[in-house]
Amino acid sequence: MKGVVGVLALQGDFREHKEALKRLGIEAKEVRKREHIQDIKALIVPGGESTTIGKLARDYGIEEEVRKRVEEGSLAVFGTCAGAIWMAKEILGYPEQPRLGVLDVAVERNAFGRQVESFQEELEIKGLGPFRGVFIRAPVFRRLGEGVEVLAELNGLPVLVRQGRLLASAFHPELTEDPRVHHYFLELADL
Ligand code: GLN
Repeated sequence: MKGVVGVLALQGDFREHKEALKRLGIEAKEVRKREHIQDIKALIVPGGESTTIGKLARDYGIEEEVRKRVEEGSLAVFGTCAGAIWMAKEILGYPEQPRLGVLDVAVERNAFGRQVESFQEELEIKGLGPFRGVFIRAPVFRRLGEGVEVLAELNGLPVLVRQGRLLASAFHPELTEDPRVHHYFLELADL
């Protein structure tokens, strides 16, 4: 390992992300305060409730510190579901919701309808092949900026996207036993 991986541990399923990293032999650091960002090279932002994660990250100064490190190019970030919403520049219908705002997409929350609480679907991920997508009140990426590459789609809608060293998924790879998406992120983080 060439650097420390952090998992944002304010709210949501951060323990599952830590488990996924353990399967790859990595002991991740829990990030709960601004100071915890300093020595990490990659950050995973879990699924959960994006309004809560956003509010706490803003209150604790984490949002500002992460944005600075991303803009410097010294931090890779992977967000799943609520984490992906937090990363987006635009959250449709929620202009005031606190966010990191570095991923050049507009995201639509609960895009599969509130009735469709959760479902699983086989996806085809570019470069990785078939992957079981676990969707829970999932968002979709609606408007993609020029630098954003689509790595997987569901019903023609982007559900896994990459922009440089930023990765965002509408589904939850941390809720499967398959660590390939986490592995892919570590590679793009150069770890
Ligand atoms: N719908 C939730 C939100 O907007 C995200 C759900 C999830 O992370 N599974 O924050």
